[in-house]
Amino acid sequence: MNKKHLAFLSLFLFLQIPAWALNASKSSLGTTDTSKPVSKSSSVPSEKGPPKQPQKLPQNWQIPVQGKLTNPFGNGYWYYGIYRGGHTGIDIKAAAGAPVVSAASGKVVMIHDYQDRRYGRYIVIQHAPGFYALYGHMSGIHVKINQDLKMGQRIGDVGITGAAGYPHVHFEVMNQVPVRDGAWGYAYICSKQPVGQDLLHFNFLNLAAREMPAIRRQRVNGCSDIPLRSPLVYYNPEYFFGNYQFKPWLSEFQPENEEVARWRNPQRTVPKTRPSASAKSEP
Ligand SMILES: [Zn+2]
Repeated sequence: MNKKHLAFLSLFLFLQIPAWALNASKSSLGTTDTSKPVSKSSSVPSEKGPPKQPQKLPQNWQIPVQGKLTNPFGNGYWYYGIYRGGHTGIDIKAAAGAPVVSAASGKVVMIHDYQDRRYGRYIVIQHAPGFYALYGHMSGIHVKINQDLKMGQRIGDVGITGAAGYPHVHFEVMNQVPVRDGAWGYAYICSKQPVGQDLLHFNFLNLAAREMPAIRRQRVNGCSDIPLRSPLVYYNPEYFFGNYQFKPWLSEFQPENEEVARWRNPQRTVPKTRPSASAKSEP
């Protein structure tokens, strides 16, 4: 095979793999994944009847805090020898104490006003039928349960509570109020990165949404799937902010995060580095 053939083959693979990966993940999960927001009827199965998927993704929400996007939706990376894959929200880095505001009008449906090892102090706001947003890692909370909110109303302060290595807001949007086995921050945490179909089950970088019937947790002998009580649909909040452009953030991110670097800049070669002690974050 000469160079010309190789070039064509490379181009062919480059163009084909993403589409194949998307189709494969769709068919394997029956997901609502799309590479762009589209109207879609519900496909969420549940005997208890969780909120149906909305017909359309919101597009006019306000960014909950001004800052840099330091960890996008669906992202995965190595962290102290553990692979965290499928970030269920986005992380926005900002100064500690900076105001966190409601991304849209809504009602406070959950207040978790104590420290834990995941999201720390957080609240959940129902912004629309089938759209519940979690605001995590806050240092202070300034709302009450069932309180009605307007877009832009202050709800808390940027903090570092929970599993956060720097001040940021973990902002994730689901189709129902999160339950313990759904609000993990990551779709899977394993001692090795899944490959093949396993990877497609849990990876959702650059997708608008991901339905997750199960998550994968690290066990003594690797990983195992934990079925969720009812399938969750996680949405990529970046799609909700209209024309909002996040400030340049790639340089803020951990250098070992090769996946996200490839997504943002496919032409760029990212050197491989080992996970470092400075790579704290998450969920
Ligand atoms: Zn996060």
